[in-house]
Amino acid sequence: MAICNKNHRYNPQFDELSPAQGGDGRHKCAGCAYDQGRDDGKEGRNANCNPDSLPESQAGTIRHKNVNEAYALGYQHGVAERGNTKKA
Ligand SMILES: [Zn+2]
Repeated sequence: MAICNKNHRYNPQFDELSPAQGGDGRHKCAGCAYDQGRDDGKEGRNANCNPDSLPESQAGTIRHKNVNEAYALGYQHGVAERGNTKKA
């Protein structure tokens, strides 16, 4: 399983997310979940978080954060960005 080494592990905006309560997404990278959500929101795709496709996270701010919440936050931001930057 891939391990996430991206800098978003330390992004302070993830401090606000709830801790993961266990389950499948527990060790997944919430930063990558956020990116995934943001992409989907920006591209106008339906929100569909898929924790199985995310790399594991070992350390940093987002360790053991709720990936579904991170995805939803990213999706929100992606949709907002899409509205702001309609340059086609
Ligand atoms: Zn990541």
